[in-house]
Amino acid sequence: MSKVAIIGGGIIGVATAYELAKLGEEVILFEKNYFGSGSTFRCATGIRAQFTDEANIRLMKYAVERWEKLEEELGFDINFRQTGYLFLATSEEEVEAFKNNIRLQNKFGVPTRLIDMDEAKEIVPILNTEPFLAGAWNPKDGKANPFKTLFAYLFRAKELGVDAREHTEVVGFEREGDVITAVKFRSNGKVESVKVDAVLNAANAWAPLINEMAGLKRDLVPITAYKHQLVKTEPLERGQAEPLVCPPSWNDAYIIQDGEDGGIICGVGIEHRAKSLDDYEPTYDFLRGVLRYATMIAPPLRYAHIVRQWAGFYAKTPDKNPAIGKLLDNFYIAAGFSGHGFMMAPAVAQAMAELIAKGRSKVPLDWDWYDPYRFERGELRSSAFQIG
Ligand code: FAD
Repeated sequence: MSKVAIIGGGIIGVATAYELAKLGEEVILFEKNYFGSGSTFRCATGIRAQFTDEANIRLMKYAVERWEKLEEELGFDINFRQTGYLFLATSEEEVEAFKNNIRLQNKFGVPTRLIDMDEAKEIVPILNTEPFLAGAWNPKDGKANPFKTLFAYLFRAKELGVDAREHTEVVGFEREGDVITAVKFRSNGKVESVKVDAVLNAANAWAPLINEMAGLKRDLVPITAYKHQLVKTEPLERGQAEPLVCPPSWNDAYIIQDGEDGGIICGVGIEHRAKSLDDYEPTYDFLRGVLRYATMIAPPLRYAHIVRQWAGFYAKTPDKNPAIGKLLDNFYIAAGFSGHGFMMAPAVAQAMAELIAKGRSKVPLDWDWYDPYRFERGELRSSAFQIG
């Protein structure tokens, strides 16, 4: 049994702690704030396999299969529901692009199909069908509750012996050659250190700072924090917009009915480079922009009250694909998840835990695609399909 330190108590860190403990490893998990306080508790709940490249489609196909069994495995209600994702085309060129994406997704077993606007209206009763020509519809996509999911993983991780520490910030490492030998952390103002056999950097937007603490260049894995925001309406009758609905050509605007209370969560691709890593201030330009598009997608939303607006980070690499893999002999990274870290977590956590514990994984994760050294080599991948 080896001792693995995980830095970052978001969904990736917590789920990996659980998977490592399942494999019999000793785990110490550090979160500088409270669990979920980074991007995880600010996300839009969405889970989809509708990507536009093989690596992300195959990873997400597997992730959705894990999501389907997660409630049973963890023994908690996480409100995972396969209510689908519906992308909407506004031009003939976009319909053709949808057809190409659907062919690729079908090739890897993702059952997306092209639907007409009559069917779209049956699925989303408040949809304004008039501007749209066709939809790409995958009923197996869905959503889950990020709070319940993280706490379910955390509960089971602790039960399996994970030493999970909140309000405990990692501040440095001891390193001999290419091996990290100890993690230094601060808790209640006191700095201590713990000997470790392996370390996972799961700090997402903060990951470059952790790499620097390990003696690597801060921009070796260039992850930049962009502020993304959401608004949520008062609860509406269930069944109005259960799937995530998105016309990508409308600045990636989307709506999705919250699986818990029925409020409509609305997003749009208005992003700001975060001024600092605690820049969570919501902005008025976002509020105006998002409501313009949301009410064009679903006109009845004009009459719904907005009850919340909040901001979080898309932690983005230059190709919007995460960095997943090994950086030093025993120092690993899974970070830079843009708008996809919640949905990918069950698959990435399993893959990362198996890599650390056994040196290989049965998860269909294309290690080369997500290689953290690809930026240094100047080998960017095609951009991952990001919305919002
Ligand atoms: P985080 O949740 O950010 O966790 C990293 C943690 O590391 C933080 O809690 C931080 O405090 C901690 N940390 C940092 N430095 C240290 C240190 N020195 N010591 C200890 N701890 C440290 N994804 C989806 O899949 N579906 C969606 O629908 C979706 N919608 C989104 C909507 C919005 C508005 C936003 C902002 C994001 C959305 N995302 C979505 C993205 C998703 O939220 C993230 O990709 C995911 O939560 C990343 O998880 P993580 O564990 O990697 O990072």
